[in-house]
Amino acid sequence: MVSVATLGSHCALQVLKGAKDEGLKTILISEKKRERLYKRFDFIDEIILVDSFEEFLDNKSTSILEKNDAVLIPHGTLIAQMSTKQIESIKIPVFGNKWILKWESDRELKQQLMLESKLNVPQQIPTPNKINQLVIAKRHGAAGGKGYFLASSEKDYIKKRDILIQQGLIKGDSDLYIQEYVMGVLAYLQFFYSPLQDKLEFFGVDKRHESDIEGLARIPASEQIGMDYISSFNVIGNSPMVLRESLLDEVYQMGERFVSASQRLVKPGMNGPFCIEGVYDQNGKFWSFEFSARIVAGTNIYMEGSPYSTLLYDEPMSMGRRMAREIKKAAKQKKLDKVTT
Ligand code: ATP
Repeated sequence: MVSVATLGSHCALQVLKGAKDEGLKTILISEKKRERLYKRFDFIDEIILVDSFEEFLDNKSTSILEKNDAVLIPHGTLIAQMSTKQIESIKIPVFGNKWILKWESDRELKQQLMLESKLNVPQQIPTPNKINQLVIAKRHGAAGGKGYFLASSEKDYIKKRDILIQQGLIKGDSDLYIQEYVMGVLAYLQFFYSPLQDKLEFFGVDKRHESDIEGLARIPASEQIGMDYISSFNVIGNSPMVLRESLLDEVYQMGERFVSASQRLVKPGMNGPFCIEGVYDQNGKFWSFEFSARIVAGTNIYMEGSPYSTLLYDEPMSMGRRMAREIKKAAKQKKLDKVTT
């Protein structure tokens, strides 16, 4: 009987509760310091304790996972703490497409996949001397918005860049990616693509709360003038959101274009959960600056299902449970290779 395993962090509770609801055995790979937390939850059947997550790549952990026919659910912590090479070397089946995770971490590949999907991507500004509008400068890698800053001229950019250099966060311009800033409403569109049914499901949408850029909006402009200080976009949490119904058709179309572009560029394509992340502008046009090619933590707000999963399922359906259902079905049909890599 197949089981579901994941690393103890990010959305592990949602994933394992969902797997248990589908009647599957659940395994958590947990750092020793987190054991106390995870032992509180009865739906976790087995905990593999490690000193650091990298350890789960070793033979001892792998053989426990293999014995249990475990499918590993990748999430943000796996990506943040392991290199692409380490992820690609994982021996047990990984849900979705482990090869696409590299495309999420590498800014050039990411851009290529978004353009192939015909998403509207904010323009990249090639060099600081080309800044003639409001831009956002972002650090490479999944920095989670920390140390990102806004600038409206080259002079402004240099001043803020130099503060980050002094703080030791970056070494120079090559550590920053400059992009046109799009003003509007942030939206994180959560999807699930089922390779078994060849069907895309729109699962929910959330809003991210970032500090301290949100805090700035509460300070009058007159008080902000003279604040010699760099705002940051550090993610603090997520809250639920519903979209105007007239926007939904385009949401599905963006998701479908993303799935078919990924099938062309990174075989076997974008199977399982993913998220397209961006901003709706004043005309309701969606500008995407990012995607996640695996479950996002924003799905944690919908453990009982979202307004959109409720339209598809007559029972509470979290993203964790949806993945477990796909795994269970694939195992029954002897098609696990269709939903894992
Ligand atoms: P993570 O890995 O946590 O998703 P990241 O390092 O990939 O973060 P982005 O998601 O691209 O960074 O950006 C972080 C935040 O910066 C966004 O949530 C958004 O608030 C803001 N942001 C990024 N790009 C733009 C843009 N072009 N216009 C407006 N806001 C933006």
